[in-house]
Amino acid sequence: MNLFETGKTAVNAREGAQLYGVAVNRSGMALCPFHNDHHPSLLVADDHYHCFACGAHGDVIDLAANLFGLSLYDAARKLAADFHLAPDKPPPESICQKLKQKTKAQQLQEDERLCCAVLFWGSTAGHWKSGNCSMLHRHRRKR
Ligand SMILES: [Zn+2]
Repeated sequence: MNLFETGKTAVNAREGAQLYGVAVNRSGMALCPFHNDHHPSLLVADDHYHCFACGAHGDVIDLAANLFGLSLYDAARKLAADFHLAPDKPPPESICQKLKQKTKAQQLQEDERLCCAVLFWGSTAGHWKSGNCSMLHRHRRKR
């Protein structure tokens, strides 16, 4: 469990949006902070946001990164700080359950993002190993 996974599983996009001042209405729509929006065009779901006008799209980490002009790494750190997450500690049981319930397709997508995250992390902090990543690449090449 790294900072990215912790951030994404513990904080949903709607909570993130609301904390950062994006007012989400009852149907899950909000004024898009990424373009000059006059009618709510931004759909904020639990696990992602999507703007039907300007096409902004991503998860809660992308949201924080784009809102504050941060790198994904800094955005993940900001989320962890703002939501009082402790990435070094084991996550609560409820989060583990959520992770286990993911479908195969979701898991593949997750692996892909995690792969980039790990690589990125490795180049930034220098203490993450990219072993999982090279395994993933070997696996891909076979297909
Ligand atoms: Zn927009």
